[in-house]
Amino acid sequence: MTPPMGGRIPSAGEVARLLRQRVEMGGGDVFLDGRTREQALDQIARALNALHDDGHNSPGGPLASEGPTPDSKGTDRSGTGAPLVLPNAYDDLRKLALACTRCGLASGRTHVVFSDGSPTARLMVVGEAPGANEDASGVPFVGMAGQFLDLLLATVGLSREDSVYIANVLKCRPPGNRDPQPNEIASCSPFLLKQIELVKPDALLAVGSFSARLLTGRDGVALGQLRGAVHRYHDVPLVVTYHPAALLRNRRWIRSFWDDLQLLRSILDAAQVS
Ligand code: URA
Repeated sequence: MTPPMGGRIPSAGEVARLLRQRVEMGGGDVFLDGRTREQALDQIARALNALHDDGHNSPGGPLASEGPTPDSKGTDRSGTGAPLVLPNAYDDLRKLALACTRCGLASGRTHVVFSDGSPTARLMVVGEAPGANEDASGVPFVGMAGQFLDLLLATVGLSREDSVYIANVLKCRPPGNRDPQPNEIASCSPFLLKQIELVKPDALLAVGSFSARLLTGRDGVALGQLRGAVHRYHDVPLVVTYHPAALLRNRRWIRSFWDDLQLLRSILDAAQVS
């Protein structure tokens, strides 16, 4: 098969655009216009190389490892004793989050990173916490890991412009991209859980172990053990997968991520016909 870019390595943006066009032109199948899984994975690997060649040396953003499981009721567990009353109107929730000082991360942030994408999206992706690029811009997943996430989502016909809403467990950047601390997760996660309640997605995709553990309620369980099954968060189907920053460091996981995306796509397709 002739490579679509005349043999040169396409940029991530080009690949994502190409894939989107194919989906929009009615090639609704997720396997890249008749390509085999191997060809699709190869295309992703090539785009990943191109991303690296674009001058990004580090994936950036935090990498998941350990995390607690706060409750899902919006109860204050931050140790501050302050009651947390979360509004039911989306814009009010956003305003409250943007002014939040419930944990120590507030003092070091440039921006609160609330969300990106459409609040009416069918898919909600939940990451870990903002990195440096996100803190600077106020938008989640804009660094290299985010570009890779966009590319992978495009392979199953999903984009943040119209079908994906993205938010993180933490809304403020942990210094040096360190792991989120239990008190920070307890303070901040009620905002995320309320976002899920208000957005009402057809499916959730948790990327990385912090969001996976939070939403499955399986504290301390390895991500590998949570993958491959359809979980439920308050009746919303939930797929768990690797964090895109982890994929950039461990390319052998891309294949598993791809499989998880297929599972996710099948859930979304089933929800659409039912
Ligand atoms: N990693 C995340 O988990 N979230 C972001 O927004 C960026 C990097």
